Amino acid sequence: MIKVGVFGASGRVGKLLLEELKNTPDMSLSCVYVRNDLDFSIDPSVLVTADMRSFLKSCDIVVDFSLPEACEILLEEAVKTPRPLVIGTTGLNTHQLNLLKNASELMPILYATNMSLGVALLSKLVNLAAARLDGFDIEIVEMHHKHKKDAPSGTALTLAESAASGRGLDLDKVRVSGRDGNIGERTKDEISVMALRGGDIVGRHTVGFYNDGEFIELNHTATSRSTFSKGAIRAASWLVTQKAGLYSISDCLEL
Ligand code: NAD
Repeated sequence: MIKVGVFGASGRVGKLLLEELKNTPDMSLSCVYVRNDLDFSIDPSVLVTADMRSFLKSCDIVVDFSLPEACEILLEEAVKTPRPLVIGTTGLNTHQLNLLKNASELMPILYATNMSLGVALLSKLVNLAAARLDGFDIEIVEMHHKHKKDAPSGTALTLAESAASGRGLDLDKVRVSGRDGNIGERTKDEISVMALRGGDIVGRHTVGFYNDGEFIELNHTATSRSTFSKGAIRAASWLVTQKAGLYSISDCLEL
């Protein structure tokens, strides 16, 4: 039985992870990390702790859906008590991404800004389309619920990276994140990534390739957050047997 620790257990995705684990053969919830008291009931056999070391020592693998500052604390502690980590938290800054890369020298880490199979495949399709549809303008639009804190979404940035790499471009040099005022015509290589927020939208991403006379739009819509929790559990069962290193969701799905 694989003992799973959930980091961010009281969050929207975290709560679904706890439910998912109840129905997952060969895996059980062993511990949750909390800053304050837990605001819902949990099986008494599960360790509920605010002590990171005890949390890490009580599980075989950690699944994290929290916030960047929380994920940073997890990574700092994990290098002292290494455990395989499935990281779903988005919006990590350069320092936090470096921590993640360094930690992956000591333990297997799967970092995915989107755990769904559909988005993993979409990312491949975007890379192919960007490479083949030479001269088409690439524009990305993402929509999420009003509570989402980071923008644009980690998924939109991952898709933009796939598009840029298909074109042999450096995303940092070509990314546009807003247009306002008399800014002039669109430049050839720019890749825009625009974020809309409202209501309870779980996640919608559209990557458009626009040319004179035709366009293609590749679209993914998540209709339930359970697609992320299910994907993260699948990633955990794969990651637990891997050696130290940094993995993507495509590695796990063998796409
Ligand atoms: P949420 O706000 O509902 O939950 C955040 C959780 O983090 C809560 O349990 C909160 O208590 C915990 N937390 C916050 N600060 C903390 C700290 N300092 N120490 C410990 N715990 C702390 O958010 P959510 O909608 O569940 O999303 C969580 C993260 O996962 C976000 O970054 C979101 O963008 C990302 N996300 C990723 C995917 C994916 O497939 N990779 C899918 C959906 C959401």
